[in-house]
Amino acid sequence: MRSLIIKYVPGAILLLLLVFGIYKNPAITEKLSAGKSQNQDKTTFSSMEAKLDSLAKTPKQTDLNPGAMCYEPVCITDYANFVCSKCNKSTILSREVVENIRNAKAMLTNIRGLKIVIDDSGFCGHCNKNKTDHFFKITIFYPDRKEPVTSKLYIHQTGILTQFLKGNLIYKGERDSESDMKTYLPLLKKILLGIEDKREQ
Ligand SMILES: [Zn+2]
Repeated sequence: MRSLIIKYVPGAILLLLLVFGIYKNPAITEKLSAGKSQNQDKTTFSSMEAKLDSLAKTPKQTDLNPGAMCYEPVCITDYANFVCSKCNKSTILSREVVENIRNAKAMLTNIRGLKIVIDDSGFCGHCNKNKTDHFFKITIFYPDRKEPVTSKLYIHQTGILTQFLKGNLIYKGERDSESDMKTYLPLLKKILLGIEDKREQ
């Protein structure tokens, strides 16, 4: 019996360490959540259309806060490593951008009820050779649609999308600024339904 314990216990401990080590490894969990979000895919394309239609019909928002003016020049003094979830390679970006990417990704993965897959390779210097055009590629799957809706989403648009999905009629932006969500209807239609309405833009 004793010899059995000696024989198996170290193996069991090693196995436990391996299992927990994997689940605790942030790089691996990050990869899982970036590749495919675990959100439910309950929202249908037609219910999204109805949600956007109802936004179009809401009265114009008044008494909005324009937000504090700020003309401070942005100095990039600090850099950070961005690791692409597609190719796993690193790109040096300003720390602010890396933090913004992380926050935006967290906001997108927290969207409930909508099946949305986030691709951050648009920020990667290896996957996206365009040095100035940085974006998320997001793909939305609807249970009543065969083809998913794919679009580019820029960091500053993430708040508009997530706040609309929460049902907000006023978009709260930087420095307490407020704007009518209706202003973003063309953008929301493009991202959520794949519909480009040139007349409205
Ligand atoms: Zn990449």
